[in-house]
Amino acid sequence: MATPTAEMLREQVRGDLFTPDDAGYEEARTVYNAMIDRHPRVVVRCANVDDVVAAVGFAREHELDLAVRGGSHSVPGFGTCDGGVVIDLSRMRGVTVDPASRTARAEGGATWGDFNNATYEHGLATTGGIISTTGVGGLTLGGGIGYLARGFGLSCDNLVSAEVVTADGRRLTASEDENDDLFWALRGGGGNFGVVTSLEFKVHPVKEIYGGPMFFEVDDAADVLRFYRDFIVDAPEQFGGFPAWQIAPPLPFIPEERHGDTFLAFVACWAGPLEEGESALKPLRDVAPVVAEMVGPMPYPALNSAFDALVPPGLQHYWKANFVKELSDAAIDAHLEHGPDVPAVNSTVHIYPINGACHRVGTDETAFAYRDATFATVIAGMWPEPAHNDANIAWVRGYYEATAPHSEEGGYINFMADDDQGRIEANYKGNYGRLVDIKRKYDPDNLFHVNQNIRP
Ligand SMILES: Cc1cc2nc3c(=O)[nH]c(=O)nc-3n(C[C@H](O)[C@H](O)[C@H](O)COP(=O)(O)OP(=O)(O)OC[C@H]3O[C@@H](n4cnc5c(N)ncnc54)[C@H](O)[C@@H]3O)c2cc1C
Repeated sequence: MATPTAEMLREQVRGDLFTPDDAGYEEARTVYNAMIDRHPRVVVRCANVDDVVAAVGFAREHELDLAVRGGSHSVPGFGTCDGGVVIDLSRMRGVTVDPASRTARAEGGATWGDFNNATYEHGLATTGGIISTTGVGGLTLGGGIGYLARGFGLSCDNLVSAEVVTADGRRLTASEDENDDLFWALRGGGGNFGVVTSLEFKVHPVKEIYGGPMFFEVDDAADVLRFYRDFIVDAPEQFGGFPAWQIAPPLPFIPEERHGDTFLAFVACWAGPLEEGESALKPLRDVAPVVAEMVGPMPYPALNSAFDALVPPGLQHYWKANFVKELSDAAIDAHLEHGPDVPAVNSTVHIYPINGACHRVGTDETAFAYRDATFATVIAGMWPEPAHNDANIAWVRGYYEATAPHSEEGGYINFMADDDQGRIEANYKGNYGRLVDIKRKYDPDNLFHVNQNIRP
């Protein structure tokens, strides 16, 4: 029997509601990281903003934990909770594009695949994640790093406005002109301030890109990493991409006898004129022989879904992250010591560039504070077997401990594990105090606390 209170909520919502007694509950409670096994009291798969308001009110009035789920990719499993309410936005995925004003609006549960496919039709794109199944909402609210960041800034830098349901059930617009403090906080502050039911972005002329993955031998990794460090400082801003430790999956473009070997891959994305792509990537190609590659012109959404199969739902995840100002020789040595030991084909380490347009936004212009970092590093442990948890977590931690002394104190909140909650102030540096003030104004009772939490 469902609890009477959940039944009261059921009467209020147009979307689907799942309690432990409902068929579909097991699927509804499941999140992307299979390590997370929580049992909410009720999952509300909202059909519209009214449903969101009802679910927020229900959690507030009954003093229940409240988790908000967009794309479900949170590694610490912030899209679910034990015994509380889950607002699942996965039915609210519409994207509309206005080519005349070069803007696009996504509902709060849209994924980057939804977004990129819609804007591609108009030859437009904005900075988004490198995997198509990641949520637009969660990624943008934390900052948003992707191939186009050097040219157009972080995803949050392209946010024009957002519709937000706040803890008291109000529906607010946040933009430079309305509730500008909330708008400031949403651009990096994560899910701390309310449920964002739609996000409006600037979009830019990008349709086909030139790029893809190139695989270098581990013996050449030092040269590639040193080249990357120097090159990316003033490379043309249409050049995006990142180095990645990668065990070769059994793909046709990789010689069969090398499947299962470890490489330093470089995933490149040239978003300038296509005919300049080959020469734009030439300096990288000249560093060392390329063992295997799948580089060429392709639709931007194709690159953004090229690696989806490596990260299906249902893997175990444990990640750690840091911002980096300068990739010193000592830092590169630490990468060279731990990278080649990457234990699973799904696992990787990415060193994303966040300079260029990201640096033209002032440190205090948005909540995202590390405008002086050149790189955001993520050590992403991902593997299928729970039996291998200890070994994989140990690899992530060992790698992190070796690189942390060469990194900033803070890291990107969207790449962090649950055990990094203690780093929250460092992640926001001088912006933390203002975030606390804004949290006190919009969510004084910390209803939205299932996240990298900014305490009021
Ligand atoms: C395979 C994979 C690839 C990734 N690639 C990238 C990448 O290229 N670039 C990058 O920057 N990050 C990347 N990330 C990290 C990603 O940004 C975070 O995991 C992010 O939290 C995912 O958002 P989501 O909506 O999918 O997740 P969810 O688990 O649904 O939500 C995560 C958090 O965001 C909040 N949230 C989500 N939607 C809303 C909303 N509409 N309103 C209010 N709060 C909301 C939730 O409450 C929760 O705290 C990747 C993660 C994975 C697992």
